[in-house]
Amino acid sequence: MTKPQKPCSKCKGDMKPVRLPPFQGAEGEVKLTVIGMPAVACAQDHKRFVYPEFAALLMDFTVDADRYDLAEPAVKRGLLRKHYHCPACGEELSSAPLAARRGEFDVNLHDAEPFKLAVEVPVYKCASCGAECEHPREELAKLAFKAVAHAYRAIDIHPE
Ligand SMILES: [Zn+2]
Ligand SMILES: [Zn+2]
Repeated sequence: MTKPQKPCSKCKGDMKPVRLPPFQGAEGEVKLTVIGMPAVACAQDHKRFVYPEFAALLMDFTVDADRYDLAEPAVKRGLLRKHYHCPACGEELSSAPLAARRGEFDVNLHDAEPFKLAVEVPVYKCASCGAECEHPREELAKLAFKAVAHAYRAIDIHPE
């Protein structure tokens, strides 16, 4: 069970366990939605993570490149100007994505009730051979790092 919580750092009110409504963050091509995350909040709705390391644990989960295994990764070329090529035929991809593809994961962090994370990334269709692909996973994971931070800011949750 969760340990007794310290009072709210802003208003000194009692903190009670809550489930947050879904909240989102996006950076570049990556959009994240955190669904049903456990947290604690006071009567004035000041929110805090259930324990301080929780924020970093969810970040680790989110920036794992495996989460973005939603299509074949494109091949990146170029130094000054990045461009992406079809993994099947090598043709350069157009800049307009086909659609977003969504993945959903169960998140089980220690000492916390499970919840869900949804990730969305655009999928590109090769004009030459029709193969579908996404941008390289390490790139998506880097964007995810910023997207989680934006999500925390959007719902206004803090470690203290
Ligand atoms: Zn408060
Ligand atoms: Zn192709």
